[in-house]
Amino acid sequence: MSGPSGVGKGTVIERLLERQPEVIKSVSCTTREPRPGEADGRDYSFVTADEFARMVAAGEFLEYARVHQDLWYGTPRGAVEQALASGTDITLEIDFQGARSVREKLGRRAALVFVAPPSWDELKRRLAERSTESEDATAKRLASARREFEHIGMFEYVVVNDDLETAVDELEGILTAERCRLERADWERLQSELLEES
Ligand code: 5GP
Repeated sequence: MSGPSGVGKGTVIERLLERQPEVIKSVSCTTREPRPGEADGRDYSFVTADEFARMVAAGEFLEYARVHQDLWYGTPRGAVEQALASGTDITLEIDFQGARSVREKLGRRAALVFVAPPSWDELKRRLAERSTESEDATAKRLASARREFEHIGMFEYVVVNDDLETAVDELEGILTAERCRLERADWERLQSELLEES
């Protein structure tokens, strides 16, 4: 799942996980400071730049990227690999660069969803409302938002987060559709059983 800061990706994902408790959430590492109310290990693992660099060198990330000009974010590979091995669905909240890496590494096992705001003014309003950050941090997030919009074309799905419940319904629909993809199902076994019995 990608989309600009402030669009409400985190809230949409949280609501999806309430409806689908077997789905898990990848917790990213970041070098940014926690915001009020954010918990280490739940919202992000907050690490120093040195620790982040060590993890990169040790190959501990599935993907990582520099976002908002000066901050690093990365998806630890362990949880994703475990989820894939056990057939559990896992959500990643990452920027378009991360989405591109995930597509390269996981192919069609990943579904790329872009969460868009209903309008630019509404995005600005939501970011301002959050207002836990400096004007400079907000300006950087708006610049990143423009870059995200330039890359919408690489995603398979787009969900406009205007009404939250509608956005969650749409995301749930995407999850259902993805679970039914032939390439994810054990279709050859099913086919041979059906053919044998027929
Ligand atoms: P913030 O939480 O600082 O407002 O914004 C973080 C942005 O960085 C999110 O919009 C998301 O797109 C991106 N991000 C968060 N975690 C990751 C990650 O693990 N990898 C990548 N590539 N981007 C991430």
